[in-house]
Amino acid sequence: MKLDLTGKRALITAGAGGIGRRTAELFSEAGAKVFICDIDQNQLEDARDKIPNLNGMITDVSDKLALKDMFEAAIDDLGGLDLLVNNAGTAGPTERVEDISLEDWQTCIDINLTSTFLMSQMAVPYLRDAGGGAIINLSSAAGKFGFPLRSPYSAAKWGIVGFTRTLALELGPDRIRCNCIQPGAVEGARIDRVIKAKAAAKKVSENAMRDELASITALKTFVTADDIASMILFLCSKAGAHITGQAVSIDGGLEGLV
Ligand code: NAD
Repeated sequence: MKLDLTGKRALITAGAGGIGRRTAELFSEAGAKVFICDIDQNQLEDARDKIPNLNGMITDVSDKLALKDMFEAAIDDLGGLDLLVNNAGTAGPTERVEDISLEDWQTCIDINLTSTFLMSQMAVPYLRDAGGGAIINLSSAAGKFGFPLRSPYSAAKWGIVGFTRTLALELGPDRIRCNCIQPGAVEGARIDRVIKAKAAAKKVSENAMRDELASITALKTFVTADDIASMILFLCSKAGAHITGQAVSIDGGLEGLV
């Protein structure tokens, strides 16, 4: 089955690296026109150089005014909107709840959850104008299990599930579908940073931390950005036409978090 996005216009936050970058590549290969934002100038330029039919802009999704400017630039560039991927996220602090500052809490909620709300709010009229569309939000296994030492991140990612299911009900009559993805540990620089911080907080070695994380999955493995991006493509294509309100786990059969 070929997953086709010919003629679709897609906006992906944090699309220059990691999961967002792989999603931008697959969308472009499937025929979509893509606009990304990111905070990494070099990576953004690299994506512009290497991915056909892609444009983008430097934007920190926690900056509400910049987010609005970026959204308007994306609409100008794309000429409308069919697909929105709210991918931007940050790990936030790795600390016990009593040690977390309000500022760190707020930054984590803003980048993961509030940006998802603001982007979706701006996108809905354009998706409606397009006669329907799809929103994909990046939750996490931390939005399905408790995640010791990561309470702001877990709260934000559980919040994304509730937001997604509610949007699906509100927007279904307009043929706008809304799903979220719950990745487990994804191979790459981000999980390396997460493991380092968790190992330090738990006073164990990074290798022990990595082994423990893999050992609690059925497949004894981490997943890849390609696994996640492929599911996002599936859900945005005609193959996902009747899928909405779902939180889809791609995690090798994860049974909890440590
Ligand atoms: P990543 O850390 O690899 O970062 C991807 C991109 O986000 C980078 O190019 C970075 O420059 C950009 N970025 C970071 N902060 C930003 C901001 N404030 N505004 C705009 N861009 C920003 O991330 P990833 O691993 O690809 O994760 C993508 C999404 O998937 C996130 O929402 C994350 O919480 C979620 N997730 C990731 C994992 C994992 O193991 N990697 C697991 C579960 C969920």
